[in-house]
Amino acid sequence: THFGFRTVPLEAKQRMVDEVFHSVARRYDLMNDLMSMGLHRVWKDLLVSRLRPPKSDRAFRLLDVAGGTGDVSFRTVEAGGPGTSAVVADINGGMLGVGRERAQGLGLADRVEFVEANAESLPFADKSFDAATVAFGIRNVPRMDKALAEMRRVLKPGGRCFVLEFSRVDVPGLDAIYDAYSFKLIPGMGKLVTGDAESYQYLVESIRKFPPPEAFADLMRGAGFRRVAWQPLTGGIVALHSGVRI
Ligand code: SAM
Repeated sequence: THFGFRTVPLEAKQRMVDEVFHSVARRYDLMNDLMSMGLHRVWKDLLVSRLRPPKSDRAFRLLDVAGGTGDVSFRTVEAGGPGTSAVVADINGGMLGVGRERAQGLGLADRVEFVEANAESLPFADKSFDAATVAFGIRNVPRMDKALAEMRRVLKPGGRCFVLEFSRVDVPGLDAIYDAYSFKLIPGMGKLVTGDAESYQYLVESIRKFPPPEAFADLMRGAGFRRVAWQPLTGGIVALHSGVRI
């Protein structure tokens, strides 16, 4: 498989990814704002508006896979009513630790739970969630097909899955600017803020290695999702994929 532009054994990838996120956990949220110039907030809010957590006290349980420091989960419970809760599942204790502190600070610790788990084998019962999300996480998982099948397994019938991920810029002119920005500026910015240029080099490379949206939609269908669709956001910098467990 790939770790950025390097070809590495499938077993090695997860360890290398874990080093990246351990290294950047403390500065992860700040870096997201800087690198995306705040756009990740817009993309995540759009994801939450598609999730439509109920405003009433009806129970709605979200699984946020590779949820890191909890952004999508916090936004979802804040948008939903008192019955809305979320479980952040992430393989990295460092990211989860930052997320738990944020939950305390936001007063959301009773509604957002943090669980250390590998997306490829989720420690949750079949049909136990109303929705599942993964934001900017799936491309880090070595076996994406397994992770998607696991998300489908834990969803209740009718439950929806959303995947937010970097995609292919399809606007002439923007592609060149985007390339220059990602390869020339991001690693340097990463070094300045986290002391770690290599981790951000990996991030930009892994974005280029991610399958184009049509191919990712096929992966979702292969994992058993139905009504699979995707929409490009911000000129294709990001795509929002969706599917339903029937
Ligand atoms: N979803 C969060 C967000 O949007 O801010 C975090 C995204 S961060 C770019 C990617 C996350 O994927 C990291 O927290 C990393 O630990 C997690 N991750 C990588 N491999 C994983 C795996 N196999 N299972 C679960 N999480 C994983």
